[in-house]
Amino acid sequence: AMKLDVDALRYLSKDDFRVLTAVEMGMRNHEIVPSELVDRIASLKHGGTYKVLKNLLKHKLLHHDSSKYDGYRLTYLGYDFLAIKTLVNRGVFAAVGRQIGVGKESDIFEVAKEDGTILAMKLHRLGRVSFRAVKSKRDYLKHRTSYNWLYLSRLAALKEFAFMKALEEHSFPVPTAVDCNRHCVIMSLVQGYPLVQVKQLQNPDIVFETIIGLVVRLAEHGLIHSDFNEFNIMIDDDESVTMIDFPQMVSVDHRNAQMYFDRDVECIFKFFKKRFNLIFEEQLDEVDGTEADADENGNGRPCFSSISKAAGFLDKKLAASGFTKKDQDDIDKCIEGGAEEDLGSEMMK
Ligand code: ADP
Ligand code: MG
Repeated sequence: AMKLDVDALRYLSKDDFRVLTAVEMGMRNHEIVPSELVDRIASLKHGGTYKVLKNLLKHKLLHHDSSKYDGYRLTYLGYDFLAIKTLVNRGVFAAVGRQIGVGKESDIFEVAKEDGTILAMKLHRLGRVSFRAVKSKRDYLKHRTSYNWLYLSRLAALKEFAFMKALEEHSFPVPTAVDCNRHCVIMSLVQGYPLVQVKQLQNPDIVFETIIGLVVRLAEHGLIHSDFNEFNIMIDDDESVTMIDFPQMVSVDHRNAQMYFDRDVECIFKFFKKRFNLIFEEQLDEVDGTEADADENGNGRPCFSSISKAAGFLDKKLAASGFTKKDQDDIDKCIEGGAEEDLGSEMMK
């Protein structure tokens, strides 16, 4: 897990942010931004940029690289600070609290509004897991000089925000999407725990039906979660269900749609069988020999091909939020590339 020491935020001056922003701008065209370029963009008086760069480096908001030329790039922390500062300035929240989650591709923190309301802040770290995959997919993203983790993490956040909004509008149980900046999504805090932490349920069969119902209803809306498992389903004390984590959602038009759908369904079946000892038709069949329903796979699982799907949801809903088809393609290619190795530490240096 990364430590997010936001104390430094308070000590950073206007000039510090000006230079940090200059590095970010330079990264649109440079993996490592030459110091002179930072200086030119920031245009502080009397060579002030160089002093500020040293300070930002000390706080680990920048990484210095002189392998090819003297230059800098943002660290995750530097990027976090830019997003946090922007959202605080917008009045979205006022303080950052404890870390509540470490996903494979994100860090989640509580944040507090001025009035004390607690929200959840998700900082996307797409490059952390799939940096190698991204590299191997370089060709796809050639048209973008900044195909890098900044770009991908920002896309992931934008996609997640857009989906959360659209899903809520269609009455799916998801957190309320509050705001989004760079790689950061602010949403309502879900009460309860990830299903993986829940050892007992009053009504496991009802919760199970609800969850499988969600997978089916998503498909009817043209969507597949494609990472639907006990880590991305939250259960509260009333045993109501909230689904989270949407950057990898795909359309039912996707060429591997059936595989993703079946995998989501299988995860849920497996988990409920193991954790709550639910018994499914496949096991009953062996006992009483009844035939499964036509709309099921013959093993009690909902059948992808017999769901009537309203495809196109993605394109329509998401285009409206500024998340384009091309963005979708870029991010899909990287996520599909798979996570081979955690090279995040490389990037945090
Ligand atoms: P990742 O994509 O990295 O898996 P998730 O969105 O699944 O990130 O979040 C990781 C963990 O953080 C979740 O398993 C959950 O415990 C916690 N979490 C995420 N979003 C919220 C939220 N809105 N409210 C409460 N906890 C959350
Ligand atoms: Mg998750």
